[in-house]
Amino acid sequence: MINENFFNLLKQQNAVLYPNEPMSKHTTFHIGGNADCFCEVKTINSLKNIILLCKKYAVPYFIIGLGSNLLVSDNGIKGLVIKLGGEFNAITLLEDNTIRCGAGVSLAGLCVFARKMSLSGLEFAWGIPGSVGGAVYMNAGAYDGEIKNVVTSVRYIDNQSFQKKYSKDELDFSYRHSVFTDTDNIITDVTFRLEPKPQELIIDRMQELMDRRKAKQPINHPSAGSVFKRPGKNIYAAALIEECGLKGFAIGGAEVSTKHSGFIVNDHNATAQDVKQLIEHIQKVVLEKKGIQLCCEVKFIG
Ligand SMILES: Cc1cc2nc3c(=O)[nH]c(=O)nc-3n(C[C@H](O)[C@H](O)[C@H](O)COP(=O)(O)OP(=O)(O)OC[C@H]3O[C@@H](n4cnc5c(N)ncnc54)[C@H](O)[C@@H]3O)c2cc1C
Repeated sequence: MINENFFNLLKQQNAVLYPNEPMSKHTTFHIGGNADCFCEVKTINSLKNIILLCKKYAVPYFIIGLGSNLLVSDNGIKGLVIKLGGEFNAITLLEDNTIRCGAGVSLAGLCVFARKMSLSGLEFAWGIPGSVGGAVYMNAGAYDGEIKNVVTSVRYIDNQSFQKKYSKDELDFSYRHSVFTDTDNIITDVTFRLEPKPQELIIDRMQELMDRRKAKQPINHPSAGSVFKRPGKNIYAAALIEECGLKGFAIGGAEVSTKHSGFIVNDHNATAQDVKQLIEHIQKVVLEKKGIQLCCEVKFIG
């Protein structure tokens, strides 16, 4: 799949390469076998060249953010895993309370920048451990906030290596879905429109939401957040799982969190297979007892 020619050409790009990289180092689950090659790309030109190389040598590629919504197979990932670094970590304040942010920036970094500029609208995202690219891909949301409410445009590279842009109304956002879902397009930067607000109010709201997270979620254990999507309005996967008696249920090293039944935690060196089997067991029991099919929010890779 990755041959010597491809690898030598890859080495000429402005990117840091890690052959046979354990994906457990790049996922919040701390699970996943080796990627054939992991690369941190620094510039838009390198990114474009790398996509063209992948196309020419028929090497599949996967774009990773901060790995906080992924279950990577124990067999790893065939092909190239691309992470955005370098210039994709820039944040700039534009006119009209607008921020342009590289897709590699963490949501935490973006929230801190907005707070510093006394701009409100991103407080809901404080505590979501993803990147800006991953948050747009997923339309991440919490506590009545969603990325779709603050994004005004997104620039991306398509799988032919062309640089393109979507404006707000082209982004097709819905619950944990965007126009990028199940495509190979790579988000490079995102523009957010926020509202001016006194900084103390922003700080208070961020603190309040972080306290709520800490009280309800097992944030000190490796996980990928909520495993399942909300199956319907005012129907919560965590409540269904708990009502089915599955709180604390474990397969191998994977356990339904005793703090929040919507989370699976990697407590004892779980494999991806353990997590997958636990997910399937939960889906089966909830369907049998409640007649509801739970769909995964977590993405299976590899
Ligand atoms: C403790 C915990 C709490 C969480 N709480 C929440 C929450 O409250 N709300 C919520 O919505 N989520 C939550 N999550 C899940 C997760 O943080 C979000 O889904 C987040 O948006 C994923 O971002 P990421 O950068 O980690 O993406 P990854 O997990 O790395 O990738 C997710 C998907 O996004 C794609 N992607 C990533 N970057 C790009 C890019 N630049 N261009 C194109 N596609 C890209 C990937 O290919 C993949 O398909 C939580 C997770 C944890 C571990």
